[in-house]
Amino acid sequence: MTVPSVVPVFPAVPAGSASVAESATIHHERLVAAHSANNYHPLSVVIASGDGAWVTDVEGRRSLDFLAGYSALNFGHGHPALRAAAHAQLDRATLTSRAFGNDQLGPFCAELADLIGKQMVLPMNTGAEAVESGLKVARKWGYEVKGVPTDRARIVVAADGFHGRTISVVSFSTDPDARGGFGPFTPGFDVVPYGDAAALRAAITDDTVAVLLEPIQGEAGVVVPPAGYLRAVRDICSERNVLFVADEVQSGLGRTGHVLATRAADTDADVYLLGKALGGGVLPVSAVVADADVLGVLRPGQHGSTFGGNPLACAVGRAVVGLLHEEDLLGRVRALGTAMHARLRRMPGLTAVRGTGLWAGIDVDPAIGTGRELSERLAVAGVLTKDTHGPTLRLSPPLVIDEADLHLALDRLEAELSRG
Ligand SMILES: *Cc1c(COP(=O)(O)O)cnc(C)c1O
Repeated sequence: MTVPSVVPVFPAVPAGSASVAESATIHHERLVAAHSANNYHPLSVVIASGDGAWVTDVEGRRSLDFLAGYSALNFGHGHPALRAAAHAQLDRATLTSRAFGNDQLGPFCAELADLIGKQMVLPMNTGAEAVESGLKVARKWGYEVKGVPTDRARIVVAADGFHGRTISVVSFSTDPDARGGFGPFTPGFDVVPYGDAAALRAAITDDTVAVLLEPIQGEAGVVVPPAGYLRAVRDICSERNVLFVADEVQSGLGRTGHVLATRAADTDADVYLLGKALGGGVLPVSAVVADADVLGVLRPGQHGSTFGGNPLACAVGRAVVGLLHEEDLLGRVRALGTAMHARLRRMPGLTAVRGTGLWAGIDVDPAIGTGRELSERLAVAGVLTKDTHGPTLRLSPPLVIDEADLHLALDRLEAELSRG
């Protein structure tokens, strides 16, 4: 993870090999352009390997990963504990299906429930599946526990949120790119402005079963709601007998310097949706976590997943939970996050800095360029991150990044911004 500062991030390509080296990136990009669905617009870097916060591309150039798989790589590339857990489980059993038990599922659910402080875990795979599962659980809870008339359940969501890409999830997206061309949409959702407790209160009816939102909106540009908002959401949900479902797929598991961003705001949701970092950057692992009075509404045959709860996923998930219990991890994230935000707030060329912990959304002065243009310039300078929308870049380095590497990346960002 530590790299001597004398090692150039982009070592000079040996004489005579420049054209060969250049063709490796182009070769891979041509294959992707020809044969991969064109649903992404990646930066021009093709990664071959990673170690901690560093990645090496097919040209042999080393860069700092300042995106960390949108928080799926909270523990960096190839964390020794996660790699060891995966290797050990690979040699034992990797998939059983839920037709049978496996000896990793029970411990994983118990250890994750204990970390989150709830009673039960529903293991799934991707974040979108955790969201879909949470929506199903909330509806079923609404009918069976709250007593909402059949097929009348409604769920209140926040504008500009991001919860995945499935049909039901894009049905309540306010992003025209996410929705356009994908109708007809799943009914039953009411969208309110994020951060506005009065609007949320007004949107709740007797048929409302849940409020679903991100405690900090990641994809929207790391948008932190006004102080007191999440506590108000909690109070409204309690008053109206509505489930507070917190999508912590991106904000959870250490990103903010806390296990849960909701708890960091001094409140508690009824249902937590986890993903991304839960798989340790090794494989997709997601979960719905709640007490038995909520998750207990699911009975055999009513929900499932071939891969959810597989022993390999559970073994890696257990190792992730273990890392989150480690003494200094979260405190270190808070300290590094404070240092990062202090530096960002002093940097030229930014019109806004948002976020907390090792997580920032920065808006680039249009005089300097778009978010995309800055991310391209940073990639050339050896710092990989990505724009979200228009002027906004998301910074989310691995939580295990060395302090010196964090400052190296920020030095490079500052240099690009100063250049104008
Ligand atoms: C990434 C994300 C999802 C979707 O996760 P996938 O694994 O890509 O399906 C859901 N919610 C939030 C908040 C996310 O950031």
